[in-house]
Amino acid sequence: MHSVTKTIDFCYGHRLLNYEGQCKYLHGHNGKLEIDVESKILDDKGMVIDFTVIKETVKTWIDSKMDHRMILSREDPLIPLLEEAGQPIYVMEDNPTAENIAKLVFNQVKSQGIDVKEIRLWETPTSYASYSKMS
Ligand SMILES: [Zn+2]
Repeated sequence: MHSVTKTIDFCYGHRLLNYEGQCKYLHGHNGKLEIDVESKILDDKGMVIDFTVIKETVKTWIDSKMDHRMILSREDPLIPLLEEAGQPIYVMEDNPTAENIAKLVFNQVKSQGIDVKEIRLWETPTSYASYSKMS
């Protein structure tokens, strides 16, 4: 089995609802996404997928939707305040944990036609959450 991994860095803020601890306050991360794509066979160029294709599709989406934004749950009462103040936000259905962001990015990458195997979102240099396709 062949596999390739593309890394994409982005900055984001969030806060967790229904959580007691530091992460209930607005704060930010220098996040790192690792996108794994695997294939039993290589294409006619000898590749699983061109790294440029992953970069152009996924990085373009991350840069326009999540980079330098507050990622917040739809339930977050701060959304109207931040919108009114002109702050860029990304609203998601679930609590914006690393686990849920990894799953959201996985589904986004998949919907862009990339047969992704696993996404890892490093929230800090020592902590990541992953989401992968069922095998
Ligand atoms: Zn955090």
